[in-house]
Amino acid sequence: MSVTLIDQIHDFLSKQQDINCNETDIEYSLKGSYSYCLQYKGVILQGEQKINLVIPKNFPQAVPKLFLDNYPEGMEHVYQDGSCCLASTGEIIQFLSNEPLLSEFVAKFVDAFIFSIEWFIKYGTYPFGEREHGHKGLLDYYLTDWQLTKEQYWDLVRIVINDNYRGHLDCLCGSKKKMRDCHGKYILPIIKNPILKEQFIEEAYSIFRGEEIDGQR
Ligand SMILES: [Zn+2]
Repeated sequence: MSVTLIDQIHDFLSKQQDINCNETDIEYSLKGSYSYCLQYKGVILQGEQKINLVIPKNFPQAVPKLFLDNYPEGMEHVYQDGSCCLASTGEIIQFLSNEPLLSEFVAKFVDAFIFSIEWFIKYGTYPFGEREHGHKGLLDYYLTDWQLTKEQYWDLVRIVINDNYRGHLDCLCGSKKKMRDCHGKYILPIIKNPILKEQFIEEAYSIFRGEEIDGQR
């Protein structure tokens, strides 16, 4: 990519006067008041949100994290470390595997999250297709967007954990295509990247625990 990450951060900062950048060995932290004017579904929401957007220096090999100073009460899309659950790991991996610019990541995930927060405060619901929160919402992405059954999702997780992807074998989805011509396009970006792979597996464990708890009810 010709545009370096630091160039992209400068570009971001030039449009966001109230955000400052701090740098450590491994990441940049963009902290301050984020001004936005966002439009979805014909609704325009504008304002400011106190954010801390942490961008790993090896972006887009690793995933940025978004922290907000305040979350509205009842807002569920938040991880234990206090960062926002921007999307399922699989969706983010798919997006990052196309080597996006930082601005594209911000538009797709950060702006969408901030929009849904503002929407949630106004209407008490979520604007984007009402994907559920927690493990159900995460799993739902794989069932709908990757068109897997639950069993096939776990087969895919097993392939990732056991590192036994074989592109020439029949795909796990039952399409009768070779894996490499079918769901391999989802699996490869996961297993190629150790950081994302670990994150994908962690997410699978949390989905598993959630499903187990549901099963006991
Ligand atoms: Zn398939």
